[in-house]
Parts: sequence; C-alpha cells; structure tokens
Amino acid sequence: MRFCILTIYPEMFPGVLGHALAGAALREGRWSMEVRNIRDYALDKHRTVDDTPYGGGAGMVMKPQVLADAIDDAQRWMPEARLMFMTPRGHVLQQAHIHAWMHDDHVQDYIILCGRFEGIDERIIDVYQPIEVSIGDYVLFGGEVAAQVVMEAMVRHHRGVLGNQQTTDEESFALGAENACLLEYPHYTKPPLWNGRSVPEVLLSGHHQHIHAWRWAQAERVTELRRKDLWEAYCAQRGKTT
Ligand code: SAM
Repeated sequence: MRFCILTIYPEMFPGVLGHALAGAALREGRWSMEVRNIRDYALDKHRTVDDTPYGGGAGMVMKPQVLADAIDDAQRWMPEARLMFMTPRGHVLQQAHIHAWMHDDHVQDYIILCGRFEGIDERIIDVYQPIEVSIGDYVLFGGEVAAQVVMEAMVRHHRGVLGNQQTTDEESFALGAENACLLEYPHYTKPPLWNGRSVPEVLLSGHHQHIHAWRWAQAERVTELRRKDLWEAYCAQRGKTT
C-alpha cells in the first residue's frame, strides 16, 4: 500500500505514523509514503499557493493551477491511485469506508490532498472528482492531521501490520455486520480486584462460550446506551425491536 501526500507542510509527516506499530511497518516496507510539497509546483519566486477569494470574504483559497500540477505529477507516478481530498464537506469517515478500500484489490495506491486556508478552488474538485473525506463535523486548520487519521485507520488493517487478526475483528464497528455494527464490549486486566472493584466473574471462568455471550450482550448494551443510530440499524438488520 502506497500513499502520496500533497501538502504545504511536508514536515508534518509521517507524524504519528512514524511511531509504534505503524512506524515499524513503515520501516519494514509493509506500506510507504511519499510526501510532496505543493509549493514546489508554484511558479513565482515566493512559491505562492493561495489567493484571495472571488466574491470577497475572509481567508485565502488554494490556487487551481498549482494544485493541478501537483496532482498531475502524483498521478503520473501512481496512475491507478485513488485520489482523496480531506475536507469537512466530505463523507464523514466510517469503518465501513476503510473496510471497502482495504478490500478493493485493484487499488493499492492513494493520493491524499491536504487543504489549508479556506480550502481549494472548487474547479479542482469538478475536474479531478476526488473522494471527499471528512474526519468529523468540526473544522481543523488543515488536512494533514485528517490525512494521518485516514492513513492510520487503513494501515492498521493492512496485512501483517497487526500480529493478531482478532484485534480488528472484535473491536468497535467490527462486531456485527458492516452497516449495523456494535461498539466494543468492556475490557479488564490484572489485578482481579482493584480499588474495591472486581472483574466480572464470567471473565475469570475460562468458559469461552459464556465469555463470548457476555461480551456480545455488553456490546449490545453499550451500543444501545450510547449510539441510537448504530443500535437502530443493528436491530433493523436482525429483526430485533429497539
Ligand atoms: N472553509 C472550510 C469549510 O468551512 O468547510 C474549512 C477549511 S479548513 C480551515 C482548511 C482545510 O483543513 C480544509 O481544506 C481541509 O483540507 C482541512 N480540514 C479541516 N477540517 C477537516 C475535517 N473535519 N476533515 C477533513 N479535513 C479537514
């Protein structure tokens, strides 16, 4: 899996992805990242990438030709790549998106465009039709952290990055079917009694079926309490009453 990041802050990468399991997998060559500075495609001596918005208003807008040259160059290098643009106007990232991208055997390459300022000239979106991805309903300074969120979610599902496949099979948004998923059940570790609180008896029983049933019931309970949207989808899919 290869990523090409287009940003005006290349020094922000690999960021968190240079550490822990993602960083180890990066160094082992299980996935790779090339970071390109959008300013390198500017034609003036000040390496300008933005200009004032037509129609007035605060802030600046990233210029279309500079972005087009950066994207064209990346697409020459990775002709089959999926192009993503990080934007609060995009589809809010879900585990189901990660799952779909990771199971698409035809695409191994991703170009991720990180916006800054007020965003990018809309004509870039018209011409290149990137997948527009948001990491949530709030506004960040730029797309770099958002790109790292998308990449981290993908990298941890990449073959060989996590040793134990169960770690992703049983976590939040993976329990149950894709669009009707549950949040994860609670975890406990040693000691069995801490601060007057004991670990649920069933987890100490060694009875795998009972443990599985308890965890599933807990996942349902926490989902019903915290996420009505997920709970209703899950119940609808299973013919359960909410
Ligand atoms: N004016 C834009 C709006 O109101 O939708 C926000 C621009 S934001 C200050 C600058 C850049 O940060 C965006 O172009 C995008 O690349 C990135 N960004 C900000 N929030 C984001 C989010 N929630 N998800 C993904 N990218 C985000």
